[in-house]
Amino acid sequence: MKPMDKSPARWIRPSVQALKAYHVPDPGQLIKLDAMENPYRWPADLVEQWLAVLRDVELNRYPDPGAAALCAGLRASMQVPEAMQVLLGNGSDELIQMLALAVADGERTLLAPEPTFVMYRLIATFAGMRYQGVPLAEDFSLDLPAMLAAIDRYRPAIVFLAYPNNPTGTLFDAQAIRTLIEAAPGLVVVDEAYAPFTDASFMPCLGEFPNLLVLRTVSKMGLAGLRLGLLAGPPEWLREIDKVRLPYNIGVLTQASACFALAHQDVLDTQTAQIRRDRARLQQALGSVPGVQPYPSDANFILFRTPPGRADELFETLKAHGVLVKNLNPAGAALRDCLRVTVGTPQENAAFVDALRQSLDTPARVSDGG
Ligand SMILES: *Cc1c(COP(=O)(O)O)cnc(C)c1O
Repeated sequence: MKPMDKSPARWIRPSVQALKAYHVPDPGQLIKLDAMENPYRWPADLVEQWLAVLRDVELNRYPDPGAAALCAGLRASMQVPEAMQVLLGNGSDELIQMLALAVADGERTLLAPEPTFVMYRLIATFAGMRYQGVPLAEDFSLDLPAMLAAIDRYRPAIVFLAYPNNPTGTLFDAQAIRTLIEAAPGLVVVDEAYAPFTDASFMPCLGEFPNLLVLRTVSKMGLAGLRLGLLAGPPEWLREIDKVRLPYNIGVLTQASACFALAHQDVLDTQTAQIRRDRARLQQALGSVPGVQPYPSDANFILFRTPPGRADELFETLKAHGVLVKNLNPAGAALRDCLRVTVGTPQENAAFVDALRQSLDTPARVSDGG
């Protein structure tokens, strides 16, 4: 008798087996400049006030399912237009997943320019959608004719545009985005994860187009540990997407902590303003390192190109010098020879630039066999 095949190879969908899990390295004692985190904590007295709030939280009760107080705070903080509805997620990642789940039927396409945030492709794939990437122009701006041709060909259910884009830092042309919103047959989601670091936003444009949604997160503004994102858009769309949300997806600790943080938004604003100033300094410092080409950034990170063939080695040497950045060279194509560094404290940024200069002075190892 043939033994039954009870293996994952038989049952896990081939499309999932083919995925590579989202890898998060263990930073250990390294200076952590790999994940776009705000490097600053809160002053001690603010931490005490926060802990006092948490003391009264009822962990025995389910959270407010609609998170009404938090929604009101976020609406005010992010200037969501009155007539628009909001939906909260356990990080904006969860909202991307809800969007995909709500439209997926195996045939439909999620489309995004590339390189971009890798979760769009990952989530589309495991939600059972087709994914279509469209290469950006060489300077990482939108290739509008290519995007329009792809929209025409694939009729995507959703187009994702990270504004500013990760991992390039580029702020796409707003007029080009408007053209895409008008051309798209389905939803266009403008993902504004880096809103605290730019003056540009499509939030005020909500309602102007029937198919525009805006995605935000509190992660990059200094609350990455909370896992909290917000989707804003016309009620007709959000009512439907809300149906695939699991009940109580925002826990009591997150609701209480985020409400507290929003009541002290000035602290976060001071921190992000500091990061914006330090981004300009880091940009300048990187530009003065021979052989290094930094790209302009409207986010809290800078993408830079290293001398050809040296990115992997530089990534390791930086680690040996105590600094963890993101190595994008393995992604290949337009990101070959590229590393991405998050803007940290002035001390961390200086340590990074020192380490980079020292690493570049080390001659590239000649591989065996020349
Ligand atoms: C970091 C990032 C997110 C993820 O945000 P979370 O709210 O932490 O899940 C979403 N979109 C882009 C473009 C990002 O870079």
